[in-house]
Amino acid sequence: MSKVFVITGPSGVGKGTLIARLLERVPGLELSISATTREPREGEVDGRDYHFLAPDEFDRRIAAEDFIEFATYSGHRYGTLRSEVRNRLEEGHSVVLEIEVQGARQVRAAMRESVQVFIAPPDPASLRRRLESRGTDSLEAIDARLEVAEQEMAAQGEFAHTVVNDDLDRAADELEGIVRAEIGIPLDSGANDQTTR
Ligand code: ADP
Ligand code: 5GP
Repeated sequence: MSKVFVITGPSGVGKGTLIARLLERVPGLELSISATTREPREGEVDGRDYHFLAPDEFDRRIAAEDFIEFATYSGHRYGTLRSEVRNRLEEGHSVVLEIEVQGARQVRAAMRESVQVFIAPPDPASLRRRLESRGTDSLEAIDARLEVAEQEMAAQGEFAHTVVNDDLDRAADELEGIVRAEIGIPLDSGANDQTTR
């Protein structure tokens, strides 16, 4: 059964890392590529990591009602294009959205059947450690993200599922279990299930 999965949680918690594992493990699951007005980081590719849009182009797409949801995060705009989700669902795939909390709320309102998962850190200090070790953001950008993280953590109770990303392997197994249960694919039926558990 095709479903929309919303994966949210504070910056640096490990959403991207967990989703990369999830996509390797669960057949038929695809990531929606978001649009953003922020600058590409080193190594990011337009159309693969994000659709990088100029602010006026983002505005044009808002006016055209091209977005399912959009939000401002840390001074930049981010949004999910309807076409990203619709095309994948029409092809029979399930879709993962990796988005922040305001966007997750909008998707919850627009698509009540979406499955909402909050990824939480084992403790607040791990967020700073992980953002610093990732090495993609300036100290100012990290501080700004951690400020937003406090508000995001307060929203945890709104989500149907919470996965604490303490040990990566354990958290990846738990997230995979949630997704497989929702899609109705048991653990032993995927082509990619050759890892030892
Ligand atoms: P997000 O997408 O939520 O911003 P990332 O997936 O980029 O977070 O992860 C942030 C950093 O934390 C990365 O360097 C990643 O390798 C690391 N990381 C992810 N999960 C864990 C974990 N369970 N334990 C320790 N480090 C982790
Ligand atoms: P980053 O700049 O680290 O790539 O992303 C910053 C934040 O924006 C993260 O919390 C990420 O999940 C969120 N984000 C990415 N794409 C979207 C989107 O399409 N919509 C919303 N609302 N948030 C997004």
